[in-house]
Amino acid sequence: MYKDIKSFTLAELQKWMVMTGEKPYRAGQLYNWMHVRLVRDYDEMKNIPGNLKEKCRKNFDYVAVRPIKVQESKIDGTKKFLFGLGDLNTVESVWMKYKHGNSVCISSQVGCRMGCKFCASTLNGWERNLLPSEMLDQIYAITLLTGERVSNVVVMGTGEPLDNYDNLRRFLELLTDENGLHISQRNVTVSTCGLVPEIKRLADEKLQITLAVSLHAATDEKRRKIMPIACKYSLDELIEACIYYFNQTGRRITFEYSLIKGVNDSNEDVRELVSLVGGMNCHINLIPVNPVKERNFEQSDRKTAESFKNSLEKYGIKCTIRREMGRDIDGACGQLRQSHIAGNP
Ligand code: SAH
Repeated sequence: MYKDIKSFTLAELQKWMVMTGEKPYRAGQLYNWMHVRLVRDYDEMKNIPGNLKEKCRKNFDYVAVRPIKVQESKIDGTKKFLFGLGDLNTVESVWMKYKHGNSVCISSQVGCRMGCKFCASTLNGWERNLLPSEMLDQIYAITLLTGERVSNVVVMGTGEPLDNYDNLRRFLELLTDENGLHISQRNVTVSTCGLVPEIKRLADEKLQITLAVSLHAATDEKRRKIMPIACKYSLDELIEACIYYFNQTGRRITFEYSLIKGVNDSNEDVRELVSLVGGMNCHINLIPVNPVKERNFEQSDRKTAESFKNSLEKYGIKCTIRREMGRDIDGACGQLRQSHIAGNP
């Protein structure tokens, strides 16, 4: 059972109302204030009687993340937010404006324990899981701060979402609920470094969300050097889980492949990638690796990236080179929080 009211489903709230002698319709009103009107405190709930507000306050926490810092890109308008949580931890989220709508990238954990070598989120290890409400509230706070509706959500910020499975599952339920923000499942992407049992579990839920899998290398040997999770699950197991996900949901898998100079961007790498995923119904996102101060990886140059893409396309593999958003504002995962922890202004 959750201690915070924003992580409750509408059905659970109704049950609680009835159990404690309130009218069940109060649940709908409360839920609407929290998940549609996005109020920051019980005080703002106009049609809820004072004694009920008091009772809620006594029984439940009300999660509302606090903006600590905002950075805006001068290149593309991308905004990066650092939010404070109730326990003095911080998380970061990114707001990106695209032609097709506004997209928010949220964090799923404070820190991360996956240890990918190129990633800033993992530098200080894992602190704790985020609650469903803490994931939701990153989106709610950004909606209020920008004054614009969010249409797409990607769980690609700090943390490994499938390492926080139950909270993620509930977050997805609340986010796509027709009584809440009602974001379409098809507009939600969850990114994982490849936790095989959890990918299968998610597949069995038969949601219409997109699963993005961080591949970054096409042989076990190479992948193990940059992603510790590859020591736990082989690429054969991972690909089998991806095929299972597609078969269960009908949703094409997105593979993420960060291009790192001299590490995974050669012709040999293209061939290995083709033999791994050729014939699968998938899409590859090529992302020039974002250099992280604490790590010594370099971005593949533009020409190498283009030729990598062209070669893949020759084999009939669909791919795009992802436009880098917010390069000038610590674009890479975890960098804003990292610089905050390190005491930089
Ligand atoms: N833990 C999840 C989601 C968070 S990371 C996962 O691993 O997928 C989101 C994506 O950004 C992943 O594909 C991750 O590998 C990638 N990433 C992390 N650091 C990066 C960097 N410095 N440059 C480019 N991509 C990076």
